[in-house]
Amino acid sequence: MTGGNHPRRVILAGGGHAHLAVLADWAAQELPNTERVLVTRQRHLAYSGMLPGWMAGRYRAEDLLIDLAPLAEAAGARLVLDDVVGLDAAARHLRLASGATLAFDLLSVATGGTIATEAFAALGARLLPVRPVEAFMTGWDAFCAAGPGRAVAVVGGGAAGVELALAAARRGHHVHLIAPATGFMPGHGAWARHLARTALARAGVIVHASMARGRPEGLALDDGAILPVDLAILATGSGPPGWLADSGLALDPCGFVLTGADLRSASHAEVFAAGDLAARTDLALPRAGVHAVKAGPVLAANLRAALAGAGLRAYQPGSRRLALLATGDGRAIASWGQFAAAGRWLSRVKDRIDRGFVARYTRRNAIRGE
Ligand SMILES: Cc1cc2nc3c(=O)[nH]c(=O)nc-3n(C[C@H](O)[C@H](O)[C@H](O)COP(=O)(O)OP(=O)(O)OC[C@H]3O[C@@H](n4cnc5c(N)ncnc54)[C@H](O)[C@@H]3O)c2cc1C
Repeated sequence: MTGGNHPRRVILAGGGHAHLAVLADWAAQELPNTERVLVTRQRHLAYSGMLPGWMAGRYRAEDLLIDLAPLAEAAGARLVLDDVVGLDAAARHLRLASGATLAFDLLSVATGGTIATEAFAALGARLLPVRPVEAFMTGWDAFCAAGPGRAVAVVGGGAAGVELALAAARRGHHVHLIAPATGFMPGHGAWARHLARTALARAGVIVHASMARGRPEGLALDDGAILPVDLAILATGSGPPGWLADSGLALDPCGFVLTGADLRSASHAEVFAAGDLAARTDLALPRAGVHAVKAGPVLAANLRAALAGAGLRAYQPGSRRLALLATGDGRAIASWGQFAAAGRWLSRVKDRIDRGFVARYTRRNAIRGE
C-alpha cells in the first residue's frame, strides 16, 4: 500500500450491517492521514432482524431504519449516495452508476447479496424480491394498501422465508411457503424445524415441498400444478452482485469475493470484503447478518492495521449461532445448534436485542463512542 504524507483514501462500499462497526470505530478514534468515504445506495439501512416484525405491522419503518448520514459524519467520512456498478481491483477504482469514478488506496466492500429473479420474470409486477430491502419495503407497503385477503407466496424456506410467510399471514393474507424439502430451514436443528412448521400451520400457511418457477398464470411447482398468486416474495438466499465478475478479484465458483480469515481479499491486499458478498477460503460461513455484524469490529481493526502496516486479526465465528425467529403472533423461536424453544418471552428478548442494536447506531453519543 502506498505511504507518504498525502492522505490515503479509504472507501467503504455499502452502508450495511458489516460496516456499522467500522463507522463506529472511526467515530470513536481518529484514523490519521486518511480521507474516508462511504459510498452506498441509500441514506438509510433497514436492520434486517426487525424486517419481518415491520412486515407484520409490529414495528414502524422508523423503528428499524438506521440513518447513515450522522454515522458517516461522526466517522469523518464523506457520504456518497450512489450505486457501485464496477470495480477495477488492479487499477484501484470503483465505477458508480452516476458515471463517476472513485479511486482508492484501501477498499472495504460489503454491498450485501442480490436475489436472482430471472426464473420468475414472467410474474411481472407480482414479483417482489426481498432484496434490495428498500424496494421490498416500498413494494410491501403498496401491496398492503389494497387490503388483506389476497394470495401471497413466499419462495425460499430459510429462516427469513419462514419469518416473512408468518408476517404476511399476520396481515391477513392467504400464504404459501415454497421450498424444496431439503431447503426448509437448512442449518437449523430438527426441533427448530418442527417448531417452525407448527407455527406455520397455526398461522394457516400452506407449505409446499417444491421448487418454483414464474409463469404468467402464477407459480409453477414440481408436480405441474400452477399456484395463482397476487404477490410472490422471493427470499431465495443471497447471490453475488454481477459487477464483481469483471473486478479482477479472486472469486469463489459462485462469484463471491474470496477472503482469508482476516477478511482481506485472497488476491488484492488493498481490498477487504465482509458480509453476504464474501466467501472464506478457510471455512463455509452461512450468509447471515450475525456474521456480518460480528465480523465488523475485526474488519475495523484490520483496516487500521493495513494502513499502519501491522499484522491482521482473524474473524473466528463460534461453531453455533443463536437465531431468534419472529413468528408474527407475539412469540419467537430460539434456535441454537440442536437446541430450540418457542415462547412469548423469547419475543420480548428478541425485541430488546433488536431495538438495542438499532439504538446503538442511532443515539448520537453512542455513535461517538462517548
Ligand atoms: C427478511 C430478512 C431477515 C433477516 N433476518 C436475519 C436475522 O434475523 N439474523 C441474521 O443473522 N440475518 C438475517 N438476515 C440476513 C442479513 O440481512 C444479511 O446477512 C446481512 O444484511 C448482510 O450484511 P451485509 O453488510 O453483507 O449487507 P447488507 O446489510 O445487505 O448491506 C448492504 C448495503 O450496501 C448497499 N448496497 C447494495 N448494493 C449496493 C451497490 N451496488 N452500491 C452501493 N451500495 C449498495 C445497501 O443499500 C446496503 O446499505 C435476514 C435477511 C432478510 C432478507
